[in-house]
Amino acid sequence: MIHPDSELRFVSQEVGYGVFATRFIPKGTISYIKDPLEIDIPEEKIPSYDPDIQQIIEKYAYVDERGHFIISWDHGKYINHCCNCNTMSTGYGFEIAIRDIHPGEEITDEYGLFNMDQSMSLVCNRGTCRGMVQPDDLERYGELWDARVQDALAAFQAVEQPLLHWLDPAIGERLMSYLSGQGAYVSVMQLRKATRSRV
Ligand SMILES: [Zn+2]
Repeated sequence: MIHPDSELRFVSQEVGYGVFATRFIPKGTISYIKDPLEIDIPEEKIPSYDPDIQQIIEKYAYVDERGHFIISWDHGKYINHCCNCNTMSTGYGFEIAIRDIHPGEEITDEYGLFNMDQSMSLVCNRGTCRGMVQPDDLERYGELWDARVQDALAAFQAVEQPLLHWLDPAIGERLMSYLSGQGAYVSVMQLRKATRSRV
């Protein structure tokens, strides 16, 4: 489920649709969380689908640490990648705003955390663009991404969290334990699909 203060907008022919903030979303806010309505397809079921459906899955799903393809039931599936993204996946089953997002600003993601099997060329058109999302980006940038997530989590308890209700209680406990300085931080490296780490 995407943050309620967001809407779908057409960006361009090249990019297609994107998701934009309708109100101020402060750094540290849960911007997306996996809720019980998300479409959850185990990897082994993918070949049983018609090739046209497989393309839709490829386009709209992210792949979680179990190798499951997750497609949002709402407009969360239209969030575009940006190498200078303002939200990022965490090891806690949600994505977080890694800086303040202003009304009218596009909400963007780091696809390098989505367990993509193939490289994908990018159209960020910014100086910071790395040109490609590659399957091993997590190995390359994981430390940097953890630093950004940890920086955002520092603001977690100070901001409104409209999606907090959907946080799994056990994960919530681990998060609170980390935020209170007791428990360990759960790295974004946890998001790496298990099958890949065995290779
Ligand atoms: Zn880029």
